Amino acid sequence: MAITVKGPIVEMDGDEMTRIIWKMIKEKLLLPHLAIDLKYYDLGVKHRDETDDQVTIDAANAVLKHGVGVKCATITPNAARVKEYNLKQAWKSPNGTIRSILDGTVFRKPIIAKNIPPAVRSWKKPISIGRHAYGDIYKSVEFKVPGPGKAELVFTPASGERVALAVHEFKGPGVIMGMHNTEKSIRSFAGACINYALGEKCDLWFGAKDTISKTYHAFFKEVFDQEAEAKKADFDRHGIRYRYMLIDDAVAQIMKAEGGMLWACMNYDGDVMSDMVASGFGSLGLMTSVLVSPAGKYVYEAAHGTVMRHYYEHLKGNPTSTNSVASIFAWTGAIARRGELDGTPEVVSFARRLEEVVIGLIESGVMTKDLASIAEPKPDKYALTEEFLGEVAKRI
Ligand code: NAP
Ligand code: MG
Repeated sequence: MAITVKGPIVEMDGDEMTRIIWKMIKEKLLLPHLAIDLKYYDLGVKHRDETDDQVTIDAANAVLKHGVGVKCATITPNAARVKEYNLKQAWKSPNGTIRSILDGTVFRKPIIAKNIPPAVRSWKKPISIGRHAYGDIYKSVEFKVPGPGKAELVFTPASGERVALAVHEFKGPGVIMGMHNTEKSIRSFAGACINYALGEKCDLWFGAKDTISKTYHAFFKEVFDQEAEAKKADFDRHGIRYRYMLIDDAVAQIMKAEGGMLWACMNYDGDVMSDMVASGFGSLGLMTSVLVSPAGKYVYEAAHGTVMRHYYEHLKGNPTSTNSVASIFAWTGAIARRGELDGTPEVVSFARRLEEVVIGLIESGVMTKDLASIAEPKPDKYALTEEFLGEVAKRI
């Protein structure tokens, strides 16, 4: 008997090897067990091209309407891809388009298996990273100072008095940078982090350097503190905690922690720390990602790309051993969220069961090549793409 998923899920298909895996996941693991209303959008690069990228906008709007989406990895075309796929133009990154329509924040979370040891011995539970994706050095203005002179920070208000602050009196050559952020963006980032922490029932850490940056970083802290304070009753109800700490303290604490928290990072910190955490946990094939909007809309996906090199092997007819775990977890994340929103616990437990089957399989020694090389103990052989999915299907 199929389990009925009450509300719809917006499905965004994608490109290359992940598109092939996507179809297998649906056919072998999901559709035999679930009666599910999928709102299908084909974000494969050819179809984005045919629709002048309208399909991406339509898909994002469908997520706004229905609340939950799941997305396959997609090609962000550069000049080489425009030629390869004979595209009208180098369309924008679909993830960027979806993110700006949902005004969301991306959270990355590793999947843990006992026989895939993290590089940091104390890490037992996943560490999620929330990266603020607007402003700071990523939208800065820089200037190479040629020689002696005075640098100033000037603000001209729409109405009122002009303000000028001295930055530095240069005696010789140097360099300067001006960067900014907006209260709206910081508040919406804090809100998305709080939603995620409440949804995952995990502690929330936020680190910045307000001791040194007494205005810029202190403003981030102030906004975060206010937003968290406003949700204090919800934090208490879930038995979770919000902690502000200095960024260097947060870095030191994370190395000694068991994991299990959301670490909210300013833009640059998140860029650097998400790569550290991802490689510390093992493989890109075990990293999931979810876009959360301040209004509580969700898009789940794998953190990796379309695994192009494997796809070219597949096209030549060669066997592949591509890890499907992060893509499976994108689906289980979306299905479980749908079940929670609909109040259908049997749907949530199907998703959790599927996750347990996948992790159990890896822990029993069945895994793709990327994991086989780092597993302890090392398996005698690795599974091909279809073999791994076939084994999962058998065990559901
Ligand atoms: P990628 O797909 O992340 O793969 C890079 C390499 O990482 C692969 O060649 C493979 O290494 C390894 N890898 C990644 N995922 C794996 C998996 N599931 N199983 C096994 N190995 C895995 O990046 P790419 O090949 O450089 O980029 C391909 C396309 O993806 C690009 O067009 C880019 O625009 C797009 N992209 C999309 C997203 C997204 O939609 N969210 C994100 C990133 C990139 P080996 O070859 O050594 O086995
Ligand atoms: Mg980075």
